[in-house]
Amino acid sequence: ALTIGIVGLPNVGKSTLFNALTRNQVLAANYPFATIEPNVGVVPLPDPRLDKLAEVFTSERTLPATVSFVDIAGIVKGASEGEGLGNKFLANIREADAICQVTRVFSDPDVVRVEGSSDAEGDMETISTELILADLQTLEKALPRLEKEVKIKKGDAKLYEAAKTAQAILEEGTTLYQGAAGAKLDLADVASLQLMTAKPFIFVFNTDEDGLADTAMQDRLRTLVAPADAVFLDAKFESELVELEPEDAAEMLADSGQTEPGLAQLARVGFHTLGLQTYLTAGPKEARAWTIKRGWTAPQAAGVIHTDFERGFIKAEIVSFDELVEAGSVANARSAGKARIEGKDYVMQDGDVVEFRFNV
Ligand code: GDP
Repeated sequence: ALTIGIVGLPNVGKSTLFNALTRNQVLAANYPFATIEPNVGVVPLPDPRLDKLAEVFTSERTLPATVSFVDIAGIVKGASEGEGLGNKFLANIREADAICQVTRVFSDPDVVRVEGSSDAEGDMETISTELILADLQTLEKALPRLEKEVKIKKGDAKLYEAAKTAQAILEEGTTLYQGAAGAKLDLADVASLQLMTAKPFIFVFNTDEDGLADTAMQDRLRTLVAPADAVFLDAKFESELVELEPEDAAEMLADSGQTEPGLAQLARVGFHTLGLQTYLTAGPKEARAWTIKRGWTAPQAAGVIHTDFERGFIKAEIVSFDELVEAGSVANARSAGKARIEGKDYVMQDGDVVEFRFNV
C-alpha cells in the first residue's frame, strides 16, 4: 500500500499526532491481509456514503478505504550531512510515497522549541533546505553517470536532461514539487532518481484553539505551501478525542466549534495527495470502499477485488451513489434506467457503485 511519511523538527507534535493516528487505526480483523507494523498507522478514510449504502443493502458491516501513515524520526538541521538520525531518516523518507510535514504553530512556553527554531516559516525553511541539499547530493552523484551513459548511447537522454533541470531548480533553493511547473519539468521524468522534494507534500500545522479560528494565519500559510495541501489541527486535542467514546467525542468536537476531527481531514487530504480514489460495492455482507488510482479503467478496478476479476472482466454495472440512494434499490435504479453497463475502456468515477461481471 502507498504510505505517507510524517516528518518535522523535534517537539512539534509528530509523536502526538502519530499516536492519535494509531489509536484511530482500523480494526485489523476487518483487514485480514494487513500486517500491523509498529511505525505504521493505518487509518480509515471517512466516508459517510458507506453507512447510507449499508442501509440500502442492509449490509452487516462497512469497510472504509484506508490511508497509511509512517512515523519517521525527527529531522534536524544537518540531516543531509548524515548528522544524528540523518541517514536512516533520509532512507525512510525515500521509501514514502508522499511526505506529511508537521510544523508547530501552537505557542506553549512549556514546550521548548528545538535550537534554531522560531516560527512556522523558519521551521519549514529548515526542513526544505535539508531535503533540497539531500536531493542535490543525489543528483551530484547521478549526473556524471547519466552523462557518461548518454555519451556511449546507452543512457536515457530524457532522464539526463530532466535531472539537469531538477538540479537547476534545487540550486535556486526551491523544492521540486513547487518548482517543477515553472521550469516545465515533468516530475515523472525524474521518478527513477527517488528525489525527496519531487514527492507530493502535505503540510500539517499543529495549532491550538486560537489558531484553528485564525483564518488570516491559515490563508497565509496555505498560500505559502501551495500547490501542496495544508491541514490545520490541534494534535493534543486530536489525541484526547480518540480516547473518548463516540458520543463524548462528538460532544467535545462540537464544543470546540469544529465540524469534523482534524484526523479525518488529514486522511482525506492524504488519500487525495496520493492520487487515489474509491469506488463502492455493497451487498448483504458488507458495504465497502475500494482503493484505486485516479484514471483507472473498470478492469483495473475489478483487479483490486481479485486478479481473476480483471483477467475475466466482461462488463461492469454501475449506478452512481446519488442515483442509487434516490432510487432506494438497485432494482429501482435499473427500472428507472439509472444503471449503466460499462465496458473495458470505462474510466472509473468517484462514487460509482459497482457490480462486476466476469468469466472465471
Ligand atoms: P515530536 O518531537 O515532534 O514527536 O513532538 P511530541 O509529539 O513529542 O510533542 C512535544 C511536546 O509538545 C509534548 O509535550 C506534547 O504534549 C506537546 N504538544 C504536542 N502537540 C501539542 C499541541 O497541539 N499543543 C500543545 N500545547 N502542546 C502540544
